[in-house]
Amino acid sequence: MSNCIFCRIANGEISTELLYEDDKVVAFKDLNPQAPIHILIIPKEHSDSVKEMNDEVSIGRLFTAAKKVAEKLDTEHYRLVINTGIGAGQSVFHTHLHLLGGRLMSWPPG
Ligand code: 5GP
Ligand code: ZN
Repeated sequence: MSNCIFCRIANGEISTELLYEDDKVVAFKDLNPQAPIHILIIPKEHSDSVKEMNDEVSIGRLFTAAKKVAEKLDTEHYRLVINTGIGAGQSVFHTHLHLLGGRLMSWPPG
């Protein structure tokens, strides 16, 4: 989608340092980090949220990529989050997985 910020990052229109890339997925640092490690892992193909994501390979790759990024950043304790819908805190409507780490985190989340 041409007006989607994450599509533009994924297709290289907006130059961004990628921490990981394969044929289905890219990962890059969050612009407004909520933890010392805050990476976004996104499918290259646009979907508004994980509810609309039907490609099982891409769904799996998000998690495989997250594990690889965590290994690369040498973080053993981390949280993976997918905010789905405004009420859950989703603000960018291109599916993305947050990888948060580098500090202690409380549970339950707010
Ligand atoms: P959500 O609230 O939808 O779960 O997460 C969206 C995330 O995208 C937020 O943490 C926000 O900081 C991040 N974000 C929004 N716009 C950009 C951008 O242009 N570049 C990057 N790297 N992150 C962004
Ligand atoms: Zn998009």
